[in-house]
Amino acid sequence: MSLLEIKQLTSAFLFEGKPVPVVMDVSITVEEGEILGVVGESGSGKSVTAKNVMRLLPTPPASVLSGEILFKGRDILKLSEKEMRSVRGNEISMIFQEPMTSLNPVYTCGNQIMEAVMLHQHVDKKNARAKAEEMLKLVGMSMPEERLKNYPHELSGGMRQRVMIAMALCSNPSLLIADEPTTALDPTIQAQILELIGEVQKKLGMSVLYITHDLGVVAELCHRVVVMYAGMVMEVAQTEDLFSKPAHPYTQGLMKAMPRMNSGGERLNSIEGVVPHITEMPKGCHFHPRCPYATELCRQSCPLMTDLGNGHQVRCHLADRGREEEQA
Ligand code: SF4
Repeated sequence: MSLLEIKQLTSAFLFEGKPVPVVMDVSITVEEGEILGVVGESGSGKSVTAKNVMRLLPTPPASVLSGEILFKGRDILKLSEKEMRSVRGNEISMIFQEPMTSLNPVYTCGNQIMEAVMLHQHVDKKNARAKAEEMLKLVGMSMPEERLKNYPHELSGGMRQRVMIAMALCSNPSLLIADEPTTALDPTIQAQILELIGEVQKKLGMSVLYITHDLGVVAELCHRVVVMYAGMVMEVAQTEDLFSKPAHPYTQGLMKAMPRMNSGGERLNSIEGVVPHITEMPKGCHFHPRCPYATELCRQSCPLMTDLGNGHQVRCHLADRGREEEQA
């Protein structure tokens, strides 16, 4: 059994009084002890999918139209709010892009970590303080005792993100959802935080669902990757397979747009066009207006996922055709 199994999830937002799907037929699994990357441009539905797992979207305007989200075999969508509170922050934790908006500016970091410890572990203040210090050590903070006395604004962006990670980990979650946690940081700090997430994942053996728009992050950190575009999963593969044989034209476009060492000052490629607005999803394959290989079939019919072996799947008519030719 997978730790997390999102099955054919379709979720919508109200737009001019009508529910408009923003993620469609999304199926994603996260295995025990794996780091799964979910990659795509803004508007691909990756954050909405993660927030559905945490049930963090206000209903209305958000709603789940169909599908299941099984965590350790239980459908999260059927839990009461009370049951969900014990899952959220205990068994599943989440870290966000900008820690300053998640940390309370009027309390010290120590108070905030201790509060999280006391909430989840029901220990007294003294033990909570010791645990908070231990968590700051775990996330590589120097002088943790001193840091406990600091207010968030007294720390750098990278340190604040470490505090957020410490808070997220103090309940020993089975699953950590990281929503672009390094996007607001400069590249050297970004590399340190990625390394930290990789280290604590190994040390604690938890699973990580890592959301990013950056394929470089995926290459560095993730075991497996899901590529999303315009609300749908377009490709799923082991990280090595995705980089060595990307099968979807969108994934191929993302790869060509990645900055490389030794590029000799070459201009980066970009994928022409933009992700469609939720109210203007094209008929057929959602990627067809931007795809250099689009045919009439692509414009009329949305492809199903094709299995390429070794857990590699792609949603593209070209892959369907290749498979049919192989079988003929
Ligand atoms: Fe391109 Fe057609 Fe494949 Fe969509 S189905 S990615 S439009 S070739």
